[in-house]
Amino acid sequence: MNLQLHFLIQLSDLDTQLEELKNERIKEKEEAIGFRVQAKENEIKKLRESIRKKIEPTLLIKYERIQKKYKLRAVAQVNDGVCYGCFATLPTSYISESDKNNKIITCPNCGRILYWIE
Ligand SMILES: [Zn+2]
Repeated sequence: MNLQLHFLIQLSDLDTQLEELKNERIKEKEEAIGFRVQAKENEIKKLRESIRKKIEPTLLIKYERIQKKYKLRAVAQVNDGVCYGCFATLPTSYISESDKNNKIITCPNCGRILYWIE
């Protein structure tokens, strides 16, 4: 797999977790749990920074644009030719077999960065 794509998937995972923690914190009133969430959030943010440094600036800008728009899953997996970000079927002629996971490919419908499960 393309290393940049690999990092983008990790970054997307962390951003999704951060977003979920944010929601958890809003729901959670108990202070002890609030601290736990905060500690986890800081840990994720640290990881996130180290991964961001490994991603090419132009790709990062692209990623952030998508992330800002959708909040969750800026990088989506493709399963049976379906984008799991928007659930649109990708045109069969859209991607050649060799480009899968080797090039940064975005969904023609939602614009998310795509990857395939091997
Ligand atoms: Zn899509």
